[in-house]
This record gives sequence, structure tokens and C-alpha cells, in this order.
Amino acid sequence: MYQHYGQPGSEPDEERPGHAVAILSKQASVPGIHIVDVNTDYQRLWGGSREEWLGAVPIVVEQEAANQKIVAQLGDEINANANGGFEGISGREVSRRHDGSRRHIEWRITAMGPRYNSATTLVLTQCDVTEQVEKESQLKRLATTDMLTGLVNRSQFDALLKSEVNRQHRYARPLSLIMLDLDYFKQINDSHGHDVGDQVLKSIAGLLKRNLRKADYCARWGGEEFMLLAPETSLEQAVRLADKIRGAIKHTDFPIQGSVTASFGVVEVHSQESVKSVMKRVDNALYLAKEKGRDRVSTGGLLTPVKQA
Ligand code: GH3
Ligand code: MG
Ligand code: MG
Repeated sequence: MYQHYGQPGSEPDEERPGHAVAILSKQASVPGIHIVDVNTDYQRLWGGSREEWLGAVPIVVEQEAANQKIVAQLGDEINANANGGFEGISGREVSRRHDGSRRHIEWRITAMGPRYNSATTLVLTQCDVTEQVEKESQLKRLATTDMLTGLVNRSQFDALLKSEVNRQHRYARPLSLIMLDLDYFKQINDSHGHDVGDQVLKSIAGLLKRNLRKADYCARWGGEEFMLLAPETSLEQAVRLADKIRGAIKHTDFPIQGSVTASFGVVEVHSQESVKSVMKRVDNALYLAKEKGRDRVSTGGLLTPVKQA
């Protein structure tokens, strides 16, 4: 009636269930759904012997109340489609196996053949997709994280900024953006080597994370530039935050390099302002901080006029 879906000739995997299969029956006249057969993977997933499972209520998902709900809904759906219209249901759940390990289980229940003698036979399959889910989240982490510092990378920050600016438009809550750039960083590389420069960047990332709230975002924008996005933070509060970080960087004694300073641009997102405009303003503010002598915080304004020759 069912088969083991292992690779032909391979040893069964004792640690990880492959496709757990249970054959279920729903009698039109009797409430509830019960098991008429299970394979070894089903026993491995949920424990118990085949004999113990025969006639029992199937486990579709581990959580009992949720399971009861799914089984009851399934019964209702089959009754509502008495002439064989039931197509099947499926889902993905984190379940604790009988051995205590937590696994991602993808499950599916389909009808097998036509209704016979007022009984509907169903097949429940449960596939352990934990490795696949973990690989997907690892790939996602790689795609959104800066490798050197472990901070959010530029493309992910772009997406976060767009989404927070949209929220700001909808709810009109304060939202501030801080861009910082290390001063004379090229000299650090030139004097002490690229590896020392890398260590400074890593330390700065750690310092930024320690100085931010949970709701704030911190990204490596590129090279020696970082972005901080602070929801629920006014311009005044963001300037104070930037200045606190400026002081913390300045007073950190970096091994080998000694002291490092940074310049900051700070802006608060205006009502209905575009992301492009916010970015332009913060970049301009940072430029001014550099122009006015570095190791300072600027909120933008007019540039110093260039003297005509
Ligand atoms: P300013 O005060 O005007 O910002 O001067 P600066 O020297 O910091 O700026 P500049 O743009 O001239 O140089 C940035 C340097 O950052 C040059 C580049 O080699 C270095 N850099 C960029 N990315 C990395 C990195 O990943 N690791 C290291 N070690 N250095 C990097
Ligand atoms: Mg730079
Ligand atoms: Mg720089």
C-alpha cells in the first residue's frame, strides 16, 4: 500500500525520518479520522509501534490542539465534498520529534482513489525539510550580511530603509538616519596594512551595535562607511546618539592604530519625503562634517562657498 522512499540499496537513516506515511480512513457515518496503516518513518517520527498506531487519531502536527483542529477541519471538508471533490491540504510546521529534537516537517494529506462503501481513504505524508530550511536561512543570511563585520549589508539596508520610510509615511512617526565615515582611513591601511584596517572596521561594528537600541538598524554601507537607522527617534535625539558614538569611537584605544575618529551626517525623514531625497540629504550632511574639519556631527545646511580664482 505504501513504500519506503529511501534511496534503493541505501541503509535506512536512523537519525532522520524520510517520508513518514500514514494511511487514514474517514467513514461517512462515524465522526473522526483514524489510521489504518503507517510506515516505519512514521513510527520513527512520532514513536510507537505500527500496532499502537492502528485505529489511532493521526498526528499531522505536534501541537495537540492544532492537530485536533486540522483533523476536525479535514473531516468537515471531506463531508462537504461527499462526491469526491476533496483535493487535499498541506502545511509546514516546526515539530518536536519523539526523541526531543525539533524538526521542520512539511505535511500533505490527499485523497486516495474514489470513495468506497462510504469510506474515504487518505494518505498523510510528512517530510523532514529541516536541512533545506536551514540551508535557505543560511543563504539568506549570506545574501543580507556583510562578511567582514557581520552587519547588515548595503542591499539589505536599502530594503530596510525603504520599508521604514514607507512606515513613516503611513504612521507619521519620527525616523532618523545617520551616515558615518571614518576619518583618514586610507592612512591606517597605508601605515599599518589592510589587516589592521579590517580589525578597526570590525571593532567599529561592535561598538556601533553596543551603542544602539534593539529597534535600530546598523549596516556597513561600503568601505569605511556605516549607516544607522533609528525609528521613533527625532533629529535632536539622533544628533545626541551620533555624538555619543563619535565620542565612543574617539576614546577607544585601538590596538596598533591607537585613535580613530569619524564624521557623521544626521537627518530626520520629512513627511512624504522620498528615499532618494533622504539619502541625498544625509550624504550632504556627512560631506559638511568632513568639510568643517572631521570628527564632528552635521545635520546639513549650506556648503562653504568655493572661492573663485
Ligand atoms: P576621509 O576622512 O575623507 O574619509 O578620508 P579616508 O582616507 O577615510 O577616505 P578615502 O575614501 O580616501 O579612503 C577610504 C579607504 O578605505 C580606502 C580603502 O582602501 C579603505 N577601505 C575600503 N574598504 C576597506 C576594507 O574592507 N578593509 C580595509 N582595510 N580598508 C578598506
Ligand atoms: Mg568613505
Ligand atoms: Mg573615510
